[in-house]
Amino acid sequence: MSENETTITKDDIVEWLKATAAVLEENAHYLSELDAPIGDADHGINMNRGFKKVMSKLPNVEDKDIGTILRTTGMALISSVGGAGGPLYGTLYLEAGKAVRGKTELSANDLVNLIEASLKGIVKLGKANIGDKTMVDAITPAVEALRQSVNNGNSLIEALHSMTDAAQKGMKDTIPMLAKKGRASYLGERSIGHQDPGATSSYLVLKTLSETIESRHASK
Ligand code: ADP
Ligand code: MG
Repeated sequence: MSENETTITKDDIVEWLKATAAVLEENAHYLSELDAPIGDADHGINMNRGFKKVMSKLPNVEDKDIGTILRTTGMALISSVGGAGGPLYGTLYLEAGKAVRGKTELSANDLVNLIEASLKGIVKLGKANIGDKTMVDAITPAVEALRQSVNNGNSLIEALHSMTDAAQKGMKDTIPMLAKKGRASYLGERSIGHQDPGATSSYLVLKTLSETIESRHASK
């Protein structure tokens, strides 16, 4: 690893989780509004409740390795959020934690592996394909963009920007989709024309990662 290559520290991950809790609180109403026409108007409430639980558990593990911190996050979400979102987001963080078990610092490649493992966990649990109008439609292009940018030798910050842009596009691309998974699928054709709430929260989570790393490493 070259000397000036940015690495993600345990403290960065802790800050990311704190910032995520704040962003999800700010956007709780918006996310539930998105869930109203194609679901049961609770996605923002669910995510906000889940991350409040994460914040209550964080002080116990703040000094541990990144794997433990992310695994604890996943377990807090699973224990506090019902419906589809809880187990899916729980799995995202559990698998992320497993992928970086024991590490206190992550390289760009570690981050690619972490997000790839999260996506695989979600797909294994929820069986959604790309185009089914779920969080998978935001995370899949995000992972691909991140991997490609890292492989092209771009800086971590540049790669995170590409990841966020791809997640945002993936989120917007859910608008014309017909839902094939989750509550929205019960609506059939009437699910068309609405942005998926889970794809939106996934975009916010990834954008927050990018912003956290950028603000903490900008001066270095
Ligand atoms: P619920 O649908 O139980 O009310 P939420 O409202 O918290 O749970 O979450 C809804 C979001 O979950 C959807 O917008 C979608 O992105 C995601 N989702 C639902 N089912 C699946 C699935 N099988 N695979 C991936 N994501 C899914
Ligand atoms: Mg819902």
